[in-house]
Amino acid sequence: MQKPEFLTDFTVISPSAQIDPARHGWRAKCLQRLVRLELPVPETVALPASTVRAIAAGQMVDCAGILGHFGDVPLVSVRPSPENPDWGGPATILNVGFNTARHDHLARTHGQAAADALYLRFVQGYAIHVARLDPDTFEGLEPNATGLREALRSFQQEMDEPFPEDPARQLADVLRSMSRAWEGTTARLLRQAKGAPSEAALGLVVQKMAQGIGQGISGSGVIQFADPITGDPKVKGRYLGQSQGRDALTKGDAIYLTRDPRGASLEELAPEVFAELIRHGAACRGRLREEMQIEFTIEDGRLSVLDAVKVQRSARAGLKIAVALAKDGIITQSEAVLRVEPRALSELLHPQVDPRGPRDVFARGIAASPGAATGRIVFSSQAAQASASRGEPCILVRRETAPEDIRGMHSAVAVLTERGGMTSHAAVIGRGLGLPCIVGASDIRLDAKDRRLVTRDGRVFNEGDIITIDGTTGEALVGAAEMLPPAQDGAFRQLLAWADEVRDIGIRANADTPADAQTARDFSAEGIGLCRTEHMFFDEDRLVVMREMIFADTSTDRAAALARLLPMQRADFGQLFEIMRGLPVCIRLFDPPLHEFLPHSREGLRELAEALDRPLSEVTRRAEALAEFNPMLGMRGVRLGIVLPEIYDMQARAIFEATVETVRAGDPVVPEIMIPLVSARREVELVKTRIDALAAAVRTKSGVSFDYRLGVMVETPRAALRAGEIAQHASFLSFGTNDLTQMTYGLSRDDAGRFMNTYVQEGVFPEDPFHILDVDGVGELLLIGAERGRKTREKLTLSICGEHGGNPESIAFCRNAGFDYVSCSPYRVPQARLAAAHLAL
Ligand code: PEP
Ligand code: MG
Repeated sequence: MQKPEFLTDFTVISPSAQIDPARHGWRAKCLQRLVRLELPVPETVALPASTVRAIAAGQMVDCAGILGHFGDVPLVSVRPSPENPDWGGPATILNVGFNTARHDHLARTHGQAAADALYLRFVQGYAIHVARLDPDTFEGLEPNATGLREALRSFQQEMDEPFPEDPARQLADVLRSMSRAWEGTTARLLRQAKGAPSEAALGLVVQKMAQGIGQGISGSGVIQFADPITGDPKVKGRYLGQSQGRDALTKGDAIYLTRDPRGASLEELAPEVFAELIRHGAACRGRLREEMQIEFTIEDGRLSVLDAVKVQRSARAGLKIAVALAKDGIITQSEAVLRVEPRALSELLHPQVDPRGPRDVFARGIAASPGAATGRIVFSSQAAQASASRGEPCILVRRETAPEDIRGMHSAVAVLTERGGMTSHAAVIGRGLGLPCIVGASDIRLDAKDRRLVTRDGRVFNEGDIITIDGTTGEALVGAAEMLPPAQDGAFRQLLAWADEVRDIGIRANADTPADAQTARDFSAEGIGLCRTEHMFFDEDRLVVMREMIFADTSTDRAAALARLLPMQRADFGQLFEIMRGLPVCIRLFDPPLHEFLPHSREGLRELAEALDRPLSEVTRRAEALAEFNPMLGMRGVRLGIVLPEIYDMQARAIFEATVETVRAGDPVVPEIMIPLVSARREVELVKTRIDALAAAVRTKSGVSFDYRLGVMVETPRAALRAGEIAQHASFLSFGTNDLTQMTYGLSRDDAGRFMNTYVQEGVFPEDPFHILDVDGVGELLLIGAERGRKTREKLTLSICGEHGGNPESIAFCRNAGFDYVSCSPYRVPQARLAAAHLAL
């Protein structure tokens, strides 16, 4: 068959027309919905993607045929209509069809000035976007007869032909130019970055122009009914008399829509049109099931609705809008849950830098813990504590943080470190505390001696200077940025309650302190999945006793020091049990190498010698003897528990004694005790024997009976591989994917930040495996461990408690693998609850 000379595959949009979003694009479909709602939409023709593609390839479309639908001498606009509005598209072109005859006609009906301005605008748009002439020649011309003459002359000069007079030819040129722009490399890359498939197609819509220029009340504007930042119901937008397109949003002399003490408003100028817009807004919301922004024109008092797009919105506005739509019965609760991206929730938990304010960025790093805070720079934990005691917010800036900085971190409002990655100390603690944190900011250099930091481009900041940490973007800003408050309001709680109704995997929190536990409870975690007990030993009074214990020469001396720690630990656990009342609490026995508890400076060692009443030389020698070449692979975790069993004994006794109290108080808990860094079954046997004996002793002594569960933390590849035999002695396995990732890759979690960027950029790793679970390697170990463990013990409880626990991807992985729960930092619990609900829907 012979190809037709002109393509005729286009459709006039009417209530019954076949408009398919996959073929004609979202805009065409949306316009049809507006037509069905009987909104005053000007005549519109939709071109499907197949036609647009053919146009790009050089075929001609029947433009005269299209224009025939719009009556005689029409002016039209052409707008892009990709399948998904986020994919962008070429700029809209207005006033296609303008020529000398149209100009003369308009001069008679609308006046010379309006006719000149409109014609000029079209010539400019056509010259720059369609004929691709130099914008400098055409921009900045006065919108009058002289400007118009000059534009037409320049066009003729550059193109060697007069400005085209035939509307069909103009339309054909515009369609060709827009379809080719869509095929360009830059446009392609831009939309692919927003998730568009490589073959994403473009539809186009040709719409009869409704003039915003002319007699009576004429103009154009944009209106929406929800605040884009807060999501609260609110009429927002602007109107500009004698204008077209989105001019009202860019020109300074636009007026308000609703009555406003600051100036004139459309509501006063044209109350009936305003009321009509409000009615249309409500119809759109109800029937399109979305908050829409409406583009409109008024021509001599008559309203036309040209277009409607989804209101652009912040994360908090998105949540508020989804919940409001569900509450009004417009969408279902499940749909509201699905409309909110889990990761977007972190924005609502903390203050955020207001995106509308100015930003002066002086350093960038890894966005390790979201939220933003402003404070004065301090370079040491002591200075942070001093600042906090003066009531002055401060930001702790360190090369990296260590356990001894914990109190400084508690005193700071945010943390910035030069080194480190997603699971470095600062990052883990920052997330736990809900403290905005940037790590691995490698373009700053710390000069701790002179107490200043210098950026790569030579900017210098001294202690006391005010900065803002934006932990959501990983940017450090000069001065105090404008902030938005957190938004854990009724809508937030409502959405999560709906999420909990459908979710089918448990969510617990990693919580070490009563404050963490309280946060976990407030965010409705179903228990504590990991309590890292070592952090309990860094408080001033305990650290001294801890060091005495470390330096004890004999088992008796060690027992004496531990006896002093026992009531403190008992009180710690008692508090956690009380806060988590009724919910499971999983306590991990002591994990880090002892060396971490010793001072690192000479000054610190001197103070320690004083406190212990021993010679400095001896203290120094003992501290050196405890140092290891590779402490993370050294004497830590269960190894310490086997070599120095008294520590675990003390902890187990403290747990059981605190448990007895809960039984006596009538609210019994069943504590879970977890052994870290296991690699062999025998390790578990040895620890279990002692712990069982201790439980029996406490039961006998107290006369109170209680239950407990003993489990193993799977953090070494060997533990995953031998999970079958390990599960003989464990009632649960919790995968510690921080160490497991470190050991599977042989990649230091504290040092990987230095080259991670390069590795990810070069595509060696698709993502930082400390951040996003490596499902191929580490994931395989999880699956092996889970399967072998459950083969031995069918009811074995399985969970993950590494930093990955809160990520939607890891939650999906664990859910598929049949895990019982995930455990993550308290501040990530809301995101995890929502992500889990998405998986179940
Ligand atoms: C882990 O290794 O995944 C874990 C949770 O323990 P930590 O981060 O305390 O080493
Ligand atoms: Mg670990």
